[in-house]
Amino acid sequence: MKIAYYADYIWYDSSLRRNSWLLTENGVVEGISGDENALFSYDKVKFDNSAIFPGLINTHTHLAMSAFRGLADDLTLMTWLKENIWPAEKKHVSPEFVYNYTLLSAAECIRSGVVCVNDMYYHGLEAAYALRDAGIRGVVGFGVMGSPKEALRMAEEFEPDELVKASLCPHALYTVGPDTIAGCVEFASDKGLLLHTHLAETKAETEQILAKYGKTPVSLMDETGAFDYRGSIFAHCVHLTDDEISLMGRKKVNVSHCLESNLKLASGFAPIQKLIKAGANITIGTDGAASNNDQSVIGEISTVSKFHKAFNDDASALPASSVLEMATSNAAKALCLDNAGSLKKGNFADFFVLSFDSVRMTPVYNPVSQLVYAAESGDVTDVYVKGRPLMRNRVLTTIDEEKIKKKARDEAKTIKG
Ligand SMILES: [Zn+2]
Repeated sequence: MKIAYYADYIWYDSSLRRNSWLLTENGVVEGISGDENALFSYDKVKFDNSAIFPGLINTHTHLAMSAFRGLADDLTLMTWLKENIWPAEKKHVSPEFVYNYTLLSAAECIRSGVVCVNDMYYHGLEAAYALRDAGIRGVVGFGVMGSPKEALRMAEEFEPDELVKASLCPHALYTVGPDTIAGCVEFASDKGLLLHTHLAETKAETEQILAKYGKTPVSLMDETGAFDYRGSIFAHCVHLTDDEISLMGRKKVNVSHCLESNLKLASGFAPIQKLIKAGANITIGTDGAASNNDQSVIGEISTVSKFHKAFNDDASALPASSVLEMATSNAAKALCLDNAGSLKKGNFADFFVLSFDSVRMTPVYNPVSQLVYAAESGDVTDVYVKGRPLMRNRVLTTIDEEKIKKKARDEAKTIKG
């Protein structure tokens, strides 16, 4: 099926095109055209006073943690985890729980223009079913605290060309230890799976690892071989020495920058300007909704750009187009998604439509800065993955939103009545 989508602005292959049509066939981008008369073989869809952007990619989250959004706030990471989140997870997390809250989060993702997530939680198969039902792309983690074998079960159940793929996600050095991570690196590279873990998130983590192993988290992680595996991604990377930054840059490490979560938990923040300069690949993650407390990548890129300008005392640092690249093409590269992350010939038609109708979005001079500095999730009207609409004119097409919200509210009463 050939469909052409019109918008006033299209962010096409990293540059802005005006008054154009995005040409697609069977969910794949064919090109772009400004000539409506040449489009006789296409069905046409028009988005007035709008822009089309490549779909956003969230490279670090725990989708089902939307169950604990607002359950415990204003606490340090370790108090938050050990006294609140881990006990609640032990008591409540089940396969059905993971399916329902992953689906709830998938609805939040779609509403904010996110077309792909890199997820890490328990009961990965149920998370994968929820993402498959939602229709978004996903890399779903297995083996967070245990055996990676479940990932192979998923790989067998899901066809290789499906939107949802498996990764190994050993939680972190401070929970599972370096031997487990080294084993996961070997297993992942052997089976062609991605590897996803937390790294150098807090000062306490560095002290704990130093005391136990006599090395920093980054040097210990390097010894596991994880930095040498192309399909690996590391969330946070906050506490780094200059030598470690050089090492991670040299090895072109994929980093998921989770600034809002790091700020809220007062963990610090990743030195991403230095990491970029050194050669690392920086992407954007929200972390789970319990520590953010939303999963809006639009909100995140705004915070990232503004924060690093202030921190570097340089208003020209991280311009809007760079943080957009982090949340799209850099992310696709990190997750080894060869035909995603930008709109260009041969790539999947994964995109969202940003409306300029609201007061907040009026007038428009530069749609990219409008997206990064002014937009909110509510300005996203339509979302497509591989040409399939997941939201049309603000109505979700794959998820019964009222039903999943009711389920989430009912379950929440058992978490905290
Ligand atoms: Zn996390």
